Amino acid sequence: MTKATVEELYDVIIVGGGPAGLCAAMYAGRGMMRTLLIERGLPGGELLNTELIEDYPGFESILGRELAQRMTDHAKKFGATFVTDTVDYLQRRADGVFEVKTELGKTYVAPAVIVTAGGTPSKLEVPGEKEYAGKGVSYCAVCDGAFFRGEVLAVVGGGDAAVEEADYLTRYAVKVYIVHRRDEFRASPILQRRAFENPKIEVIWNQVVEEIEGEERGVRALLLRDTVTGDRSRLPVGGVFVFIGFKPNTGIIRGHVDHDAAGYLITDSQMRTSIPGLFAAGDLRQQLTRQITTAVGDATTAAIAVEKYLAERKETREAAGVGRT
Ligand SMILES: Cc1cc2nc3c(=O)[nH]c(=O)nc-3n(C[C@H](O)[C@H](O)[C@H](O)COP(=O)(O)OP(=O)(O)OC[C@H]3O[C@@H](n4cnc5c(N)ncnc54)[C@H](O)[C@@H]3O)c2cc1C
Repeated sequence: MTKATVEELYDVIIVGGGPAGLCAAMYAGRGMMRTLLIERGLPGGELLNTELIEDYPGFESILGRELAQRMTDHAKKFGATFVTDTVDYLQRRADGVFEVKTELGKTYVAPAVIVTAGGTPSKLEVPGEKEYAGKGVSYCAVCDGAFFRGEVLAVVGGGDAAVEEADYLTRYAVKVYIVHRRDEFRASPILQRRAFENPKIEVIWNQVVEEIEGEERGVRALLLRDTVTGDRSRLPVGGVFVFIGFKPNTGIIRGHVDHDAAGYLITDSQMRTSIPGLFAAGDLRQQLTRQITTAVGDATTAAIAVEKYLAERKETREAAGVGRT
């Protein structure tokens, strides 16, 4: 078998089928590009872990899985090909074409790739966390805070995200405990000051969460252990927000690509990464906030930028008298 028959050729390959990937596929398909979207699970990404969405314009309230289905149908309508598989790695060859290798042993090639593989919030890995995810355990204050009006909440963590989001949650909650395993925060001084001055926030130092206790309706309490004395205690709360880190899914990219200290991909305003032909959109990109609206905004820009990139590439290659990819 020759190399050409085992490789499937596209104009653009999109890695990840969350809101960013689905929106990029819609625009790329509509732009008449041969578009492949590779998603390891059901399309929808974090939408599938979100019960209700109340901040996506045009939908006052929509179930996460319904929005995922609508975005998927919309992308398919414009001709994008969907494949269920996990991308092992992607790399740019010397001829400027990307090879995308998957766990099922396929190789897909395209001169442009949009990586929209999102990220993974770090978990506490304690009993109750999985059981009550979406029922009082959350990893996103902007997304879920409004569902906890009048509740007593706990935020776990001590970095910028934990301290800032605790402050944000006091808009809705009557009280917010910040549970931190050390006796000082890593968060920037201005965020710390804001939290310390907020009468609704109480910091519980030197405590780790050992278990999240709940009932059918959701979270009821945290079981804590003092890291200094070893004493155990129970903290009644109606919800817990975990901010102990978020890891962008960028390990699939072979070769150096510019990223920040936390691993988020750095792009320019056209979503171009430091690798020519590799674009990034959504949660794995360095930016101020991570929402569905920002993911689809990035993806729109990326798909249009890919179109421009392919046109320029074609012109250069035609001028040099080389073939199609
Ligand atoms: C619990 C929760 C609730 C939220 N609620 C809201 C809300 O109400 N409103 C709001 O605006 N935002 C909300 N968000 C944030 C929002 O969901 C994200 O900002 C958005 O989903 C980011 O889209 P994305 O496409 O960049 O990434 P994701 O949604 O994370 O999608 C990435 C996709 O890539 C796939 N993938 C990863 N690696 C590979 C691989 N190697 N091969 C193939 N596929 C791969 C994943 O399976 C996933 O489907 C919430 C987030 C969480 C966690």
